[in-house]
Amino acid sequence: MTSTPALPYVPRVTASVDLSAIAHNVARVRELAPTSKLMAAIKADAYGHGAVPVARTLVAAGADALAVACLEEALVLRDAGIAAPITLLEGVLSLGEAELAAAKQLQIVVHAPWQLDVLLQLPASLPLQVWFKLDSGMHRLGFALDAVPTLTAALGSRPAWQLQGWITHLACADEVDNSMTTEQIARFEQALRGIDGARSIANSAGLIAWPQARVDWVRPGLMLYGASPMPDRCGADLGLRAAMRVESRLIAIHQLNAGDTVGYGASFRASEPMRIGVVAVGYADGVHRILPTGAPVLVQGQRVPIIGRVSMDMITIDLRSLPQAAVNDAVLLWGEGLPVEEVAKWAGTLAYELFCGLTNRVHLLHCS
Ligand SMILES: *Cc1c(COP(=O)(O)O)cnc(C)c1O
Repeated sequence: MTSTPALPYVPRVTASVDLSAIAHNVARVRELAPTSKLMAAIKADAYGHGAVPVARTLVAAGADALAVACLEEALVLRDAGIAAPITLLEGVLSLGEAELAAAKQLQIVVHAPWQLDVLLQLPASLPLQVWFKLDSGMHRLGFALDAVPTLTAALGSRPAWQLQGWITHLACADEVDNSMTTEQIARFEQALRGIDGARSIANSAGLIAWPQARVDWVRPGLMLYGASPMPDRCGADLGLRAAMRVESRLIAIHQLNAGDTVGYGASFRASEPMRIGVVAVGYADGVHRILPTGAPVLVQGQRVPIIGRVSMDMITIDLRSLPQAAVNDAVLLWGEGLPVEEVAKWAGTLAYELFCGLTNRVHLLHCS
């Protein structure tokens, strides 16, 4: 998304981010995990919310560290003058990246033997801040649990390295009845018995649903933006405030006759005379094309359904219940009043994907 300075017009589609909601959500994390340090996940441009302003807000609100997926994301933050600790969650992909990460004082997650080999090619005297990631059962990233002695030996051979801690990641933390989470935590703690170093286990779902995952460091992402990782609950249920509102507006209104069809594929057919609206937003902005007839948008504070197919630049909506709707009315796609979790469910996905799917045609605005 593009972050826009003051414009002489209202942009067609806006994603407005209320930074005070993010600060509120940091306070909520602190309430849940008062003795843990907070590493705030701001990968993928802060889940579409704008990495630099979100990072500044998080640091001002007391986050202890920031986390991004990769070097490029960290460099954007450093180039913007953000000096806070930044962790590379996937570590480095090459020796060149490792050198730059060290020069920029980035904390490097090491998740695989080949990455350790890359770091060991750097001069031994070079200070590196490393996290070791262990695979406690997710089988995506991380060393096998029995690699702990190898890792502590590597650390012993590099006195200049500073161990930030040990990380693992939970596969099923959003399922409150799934015993996998307690098994993963037990395996992780067991593998590290007697070993020095901070521990970090929980993403948002781990932090919310599993008190035993609130260890030295917590690593929430989604909840900082006010969305819930738990199925069937929205952010407000968890004491969170939604930070983002995505809005467009009505650019045409039509009266259909019974039998008229709407849009590509003529997939919607009016069963009676009806008024419909055309909204200037489509899948090229990040409104998923899979959203079916019936999925809601908000006009004048009232839910009205999408009808027919989502197209690249437009959607069509049923205005039968809203006779007072007029061209230029704002249309909310998600945000306070229409939870992103609910829209995500209509699209068969999660809030994560809606946030990250906003495109650079959407104007990102920040207020505090
Ligand atoms: C993205 C990420 C997080 C944050 O996850 P949320 O579900 O958004 O809270 C935590 N840890 C790791 C390793 C991640 O990649």
